[in-house]
Order: sequence, then C-alpha cells, then structure tokens
Amino acid sequence: MTGIYPGSFDPVTFGHIDIIRRASRIVDRLIVAVLDNENKKTWFTVSERVEHLRNLTVEFDNVEVTSFSGLLVDFAKLTGAKLIIRGLRNSSDYDYEVKMSMANQVMSSEAETVFMAASPQFLFANSSIVKEVAGFGGEIGQMVPQLIKKAMEDRINHPHPIR
Ligand code: ADP
Repeated sequence: MTGIYPGSFDPVTFGHIDIIRRASRIVDRLIVAVLDNENKKTWFTVSERVEHLRNLTVEFDNVEVTSFSGLLVDFAKLTGAKLIIRGLRNSSDYDYEVKMSMANQVMSSEAETVFMAASPQFLFANSSIVKEVAGFGGEIGQMVPQLIKKAMEDRINHPHPIR
C-alpha cells in the first residue's frame, strides 16, 4: 500500500522524521509530499524543503519526497495512495487535523486518513517555534537536525531575496 505524508515542513523537524520512520514501516511506499502553497510565507522554498527532506530520509529505501499543489485528495488519486498520514501532538493538532480529514473524506473516500501520535521525545518539536527561536538566535539543536540548523543560520545571514 502507498501512503502519503503531506505537510509544509518549513522546516523539517525531528518530529517529522520520526513520523516518516514509523510510517515507512507500515506502508510499502511512502510519499512525503511538500505542499506548494503560494499564499503561505515560508522560510524555505518548496525545492529547498524537498532537498532537506531528501537528504534526511536517504536511509529509508521506500520513502520518496516530492511536492504538490492543489488538493491533497487529488494528489492522492494521482499517486494511487490509499493512506494519508498525519501526526498528532496535542488537542490543537487534533482539532485541526479532524476538520481537515473530514473535509478530505467529503471530497473523496478513496484515501483514508490515519493519525500517528507524536513520540514523547519529539512532542515539543514544532516548525513555527523553531522559526521563532531561530529568528532570535536561540538554540534549536534539540528540535532539528544539524543540516536544518545550518540552513536556518544561512537564511538569517542571507535573507531570501523574494521574501
Ligand atoms: P502543516 O502545515 O500541513 O500542518 P507541518 O509541516 O506543520 O504541516 O506538519 C505536517 C504534519 O506533521 C502534521 O500532521 C503535523 O501535525 C505533524 N507534526 C508536526 N510536528 C510533529 C511532531 N513533532 N511529532 C509528530 N507529528 C508532527
């Protein structure tokens, strides 16, 4: 069975990598899909986020990384994925995720959404907080891999020209 793990991954955290590792054991093929949403201001471009994820998932043989735009249910149909994987850290994730999965269910019944509880050691890993802390020069090494830490330092020193 093919599964999709969609998200913004701006940036990818240890929490995301943990979900990828665990989900890759359940499905035959896991597509990590970076949402290309022009309306969302991001630190990293879609291609940068895809590259980060590819670098950080090389050890998983059945994991592919790509990007998509538009509706997730359409992308799921296109790829033949029957499972949409999302992570849950707390009740605010739950409220949002259930709303999204219901909307997706109404649009298409072909793919089933499954939720994976965050591992306790990564509960606090949160992309928004990583950006906020990094923006103030704080330590983010507990939440993101070295590669991301370095990319964020580079971004602070060389702000993106179009953002
Ligand atoms: P989105 O913008 O779609 O919420 P994110 O990149 O923030 O994308 O998250 C992608 C998915 O990963 C979501 O289901 C989110 O709840 C989950 N997630 C984020 N951080 C963690 C974590 N530390 N542990 C487990 N799941 C997580």
